[in-house]
Amino acid sequence: MIREKLKQIKSGKLTAEQNIKNFINKIKKENGKINAVLHINEKAIEQAKLVDKKTKKGKLAGIGFIVKSIINVQGLICNCASRTLKNYVGTYNATVIDKLLAEDAIVLGMANMDEFACGSSGENSAFGVCKNPKALDRIPGGSSSGSAASVAAGFCDFALGSDTGGSIRNPASHCGVVGMKPSYGAVSRYGLIDLSMSLDQIGPLTDCVDDCEVVYDVIKGRDENDSISLDYKSDKFKSKIVIGVPKISVDKGIWELIMKRVKEVCEKNKWGLKDIGLKYIDLGVQTYYLVNYVEFFSGTRRFDGRMYGFKIEDVCGEEVLRRILGGSEISKAEFAGKYYRRALKAKKIIENEFAKAFNKVDIIVMPTVPRLPHKIGKEISVEDMYNYDALTVLANLAEIPGVSVPCGRIEGIPVGLQVLGEKGNDEMLLKLTKEFE
Ligand code: GLN
Repeated sequence: MIREKLKQIKSGKLTAEQNIKNFINKIKKENGKINAVLHINEKAIEQAKLVDKKTKKGKLAGIGFIVKSIINVQGLICNCASRTLKNYVGTYNATVIDKLLAEDAIVLGMANMDEFACGSSGENSAFGVCKNPKALDRIPGGSSSGSAASVAAGFCDFALGSDTGGSIRNPASHCGVVGMKPSYGAVSRYGLIDLSMSLDQIGPLTDCVDDCEVVYDVIKGRDENDSISLDYKSDKFKSKIVIGVPKISVDKGIWELIMKRVKEVCEKNKWGLKDIGLKYIDLGVQTYYLVNYVEFFSGTRRFDGRMYGFKIEDVCGEEVLRRILGGSEISKAEFAGKYYRRALKAKKIIENEFAKAFNKVDIIVMPTVPRLPHKIGKEISVEDMYNYDALTVLANLAEIPGVSVPCGRIEGIPVGLQVLGEKGNDEMLLKLTKEFE
């Protein structure tokens, strides 16, 4: 759909100004009931007028996007949905933002999210719960809740999120949109306020996989400012594909939807299907949260109330405090070998397990989230909340790319199907994922 709109803008049928005005008006009118956007870019329409004055060469000329409030945009409030950074205004652009602006895309505003990206529901924001536009009484998923909800509500052409353990794919699944977590290092994280540096990745949320492809093409690649970033070579397209499906425990209805789609895709394309065993899949959640607690605790030490906003422990919410206290305990020197280093070893084992699986199959398919989203406000245990992430954390631990696409509905609630690819094969993964839409 982005390609279609670009044609209209480039041919003069639609001006950038009109496109951006439509979105800003819609946000102003409808955001009240969803709470997906925290701040509108008041200069967006002016910026669109400037784009209209140029020859429209940009790959995204006049296209409007919303940014998760954890990615720095110069001049806009980037508060991570936390009181800690309540009035913090970005002083520079993250690399992804610079790349998108260089192609004449326009920032519409900053999205709501779980505080500091800690959460899977969208309920942990200091500035109010974000709602699911496709099922208003249900959580939108998280932590990129506002980004997914903005796409689902038609507030933008696309949105940016960050995914440390599923935060792009999980809300994409619950809101019935597409979300992509690129391979570790495929997209620069310069300007992203980190949750857990060995797992974080920035990626797009869109209406369809083709849009994801357009955005990914602009934001990917090596950046001097992010030492782990690199240019992956794009791979050749194979015609005979084998899909691997692991055995996992998820809600029966969800499993049936996923398998129905997998079989249809296999039949249509004459692709193979293989059951695969992933031995260490059950270690995912425990491994993930150990790494996350320790790295998050370390990252938050700069929020001590001197340089940026308030001292985090004085104003943060319950989930952020749990991770700071837990992280401080398990990262004590006497425990480092027992927890953090052990978790990094487990991470490596999971990574190797996936690498082995990709010797036998080309892609792996499973549900994005094992359960349907709960009703907003329902009390759920920390353990149950963490288990929402059981199937998404795997891609972060294994450093591989993953895309969530809509796969039907149960009781009117969207269900997402997740396609995982080999590390560095992001472009091939996007091409193959189109078959599942
Ligand atoms: N739900 C996971 C967490 O709370 C994932 C968060 C994320 O990917 N940012 O840590």
